Amino acid sequence: MSGMASVDLLITGGRVIDPASGFDGVADVAISGSEIVGVGSELGAVEAARTIDARGLLVVPGLIDIHAHVYTHMGSSLDPDLAGVRAGVTTIVDAGTAGPCTWRPFFHWVLPNAKTRTLAFLHIARNGQAFIPAIRVEDDVDIDHAIEVARAHPDVILGIKLRAVGPAVRTLGARMVEWTRRAARESGGMQMIHIGDPDAGPGDPTLTESVVSQLEEGDILAHIYTDQPGSLLGSDGKALPEVFEARDRGVVMEPSLGRMNFAFDTAKRLIDQGLLPDVLGTDLTLPGRGMLVYSLTEVMGKFMALGFSLTDVIRMTTSAPAKVLGLDDRIGRLAPGYEADVTLLREAHGKWVFRDMRGDILHGELALEPVLTIRAGEPITPDWGPRPWGWLPEQDPEGS
Ligand SMILES: [Zn+2]
Repeated sequence: MSGMASVDLLITGGRVIDPASGFDGVADVAISGSEIVGVGSELGAVEAARTIDARGLLVVPGLIDIHAHVYTHMGSSLDPDLAGVRAGVTTIVDAGTAGPCTWRPFFHWVLPNAKTRTLAFLHIARNGQAFIPAIRVEDDVDIDHAIEVARAHPDVILGIKLRAVGPAVRTLGARMVEWTRRAARESGGMQMIHIGDPDAGPGDPTLTESVVSQLEEGDILAHIYTDQPGSLLGSDGKALPEVFEARDRGVVMEPSLGRMNFAFDTAKRLIDQGLLPDVLGTDLTLPGRGMLVYSLTEVMGKFMALGFSLTDVIRMTTSAPAKVLGLDDRIGRLAPGYEADVTLLREAHGKWVFRDMRGDILHGELALEPVLTIRAGEPITPDWGPRPWGWLPEQDPEGS
């Protein structure tokens, strides 16, 4: 810490949890400009232009939401900063709301107005998710256009998204999956594929097995705990064996919830069989902010209620997604030289009620509330929160 005589911002006295370095303890975090310059317990002598007293709070790397829909005013999207810095999230990934024909307004109007670091998957469908289902006929896809747009924006576009669902499953079938793979490989990006098909009836074919068997290391399997047709749970109640092979190949297991792709019972049964998430995401949309999903901190609360530890859920929203995104040398960690993206959270103990799309209830004892977001060194106050009373989940009236 020597040589750090004066800094712009000093966050003092909080409980720093930094899964990437294995650190969990009371410490100060020093920031100059947009960079972290020190983390430690002896920074008291450092002179700071501004000091934030974080006693009683958690200080963690800026949270990363790996799956959201933030193409402002498009479809059911919400603003990147409403889901991002105003919610304790410093990096957000748009999961294919834009396709090659709708990319430019997103790139030129939405991204420059966002304080949140906003990255994207480009949908293989020409118009992205402006309308769902995104692919109905073959002409809804232009592979070469998708490759061209993805290649032109390698700093923002992480790869190619597919919703492998809808009536086109019966007409186009696994060709959709093949197109996505080709576009991702030829543009040098990863694939993110959505499973869970609300349009399929019982016994209808789904693309889940084709998707799971073709994904490769670094590709993302989205909605692993969906209980829609095409779920990873076979009719015998056992996880599809292919999914463990995919996991062992390095496919990223992503359980983003959304309003329609997460059920506690399915999650518990798959977790019991050893299918754990690698990262957490929300699949947040504007309607989802008002029901079932709410926020990334609420999702973290749900996973703690499912049995994951505080450190687990912080790891799955910081260092783990940073690694998946290939940014783990810049974000997801509190260490000198890293970007000064930091989230201050308050732990709230109570008898919390979490709900899923089936109306099932899960009780949890720990919830998290964003208190302050620091994005590239700039402190930003979260907004009021998605519920009338703010950020915390519903409280059990018989609890506490
Ligand atoms: Zn989504």
